[in-house]
Amino acid sequence: MDIKIVKVPAKKRKLKPADESKLGFGQIFTDHMFTMQYFEGKGWYDPKIAPYKPLALDPAAMCLHYGQLIFEGMKAYWGKDGSIFLFRPVEALKKLVLLEKDWIPRGSGTSLYIRPTMIATETAIGVHPSNAYLFFIIVGPVGAYYPEGFSPTKIYVIEDYVRAAPGGIGFCKAAANYAASLLASQFAIKQGYTQVLWLDAVERKYVEEVGTSNIFFVIKDELITPPLSGSILPGVTRDSVIKLARSWGVKVSERSLSMDEIVAAAADGTMQEAFASGTAAIVSPIGKIAFRGKEYTFQDGGVGNLTRRLYDEILQIQYGEKDDPFGWRIRIP
Ligand SMILES: *Cc1c(COP(=O)(O)O)cnc(C)c1O
Repeated sequence: MDIKIVKVPAKKRKLKPADESKLGFGQIFTDHMFTMQYFEGKGWYDPKIAPYKPLALDPAAMCLHYGQLIFEGMKAYWGKDGSIFLFRPVEALKKLVLLEKDWIPRGSGTSLYIRPTMIATETAIGVHPSNAYLFFIIVGPVGAYYPEGFSPTKIYVIEDYVRAAPGGIGFCKAAANYAASLLASQFAIKQGYTQVLWLDAVERKYVEEVGTSNIFFVIKDELITPPLSGSILPGVTRDSVIKLARSWGVKVSERSLSMDEIVAAAADGTMQEAFASGTAAIVSPIGKIAFRGKEYTFQDGGVGNLTRRLYDEILQIQYGEKDDPFGWRIRIP
């Protein structure tokens, strides 16, 4: 791919954040962005890296009306040896990340978040698949997810709303899925919980995901996560957790897990650990689950051993501090 590069003159570049402990998440963006257009019959054209700026969109652009928008999320990190690493990238983003390398924060746990997005740009009112698309990548520095160590989350099991149904689009990062999740997550936050635990759309019985992360439980030494039924996002972190745990000899099952089984395991003491997985936090321990007016506490509200081991291992692979037996870490250039 022949990428045209238009750089922002050095004097016009934005000030980089001075305090890496205050980066937060998803608030700051860099000087440049990648864009590329698509038109039916012509294919992809005009790939370029140019100054970060607002998109000019016709108000009839179809993404604004019918929700044709998908995205991805990943990270770039400084390694101890001065290399830049990407973790299991879906596309070659190397040029943009290299151009913006001075934006990659260096503090422990910090990274450059990468957001590739594709939107429908045909100007037309009328529901049909767009004949034109814009693909863009924006990047920005993000802080450590746990600057003060793990803090287990409190999760609310929602029965009145569902995130995605069988035959729908829950398996991809399509904007509509997140619009559909907002009312339920606002409700959970108002009750004092961190996130929603989603149940399956048909029986409202089996666990699917937590917020925008995949979910895992350890019951009687078995690491269990729901199978990729079509309404669950096939997370890269989920896949990494499964592969690592299997390589350590842990029994891993991708199987349906009902709230009844979870409640029973919490009651009889066989529930050992619960955690969520995703690019932003890697793994996030679940301390409490609220279900039908009762709260269930896991691993005494603390962090399970396997949860911590998975977190440490993936983090160290990402930052180039450990062997990478699966070849997930990509060094650039
Ligand atoms: C992004 C996302 C995940 C986690 O996927 P990763 O590839 O591990 O970041 C899980 N569930 C939903 C709904 C998501 O949007």
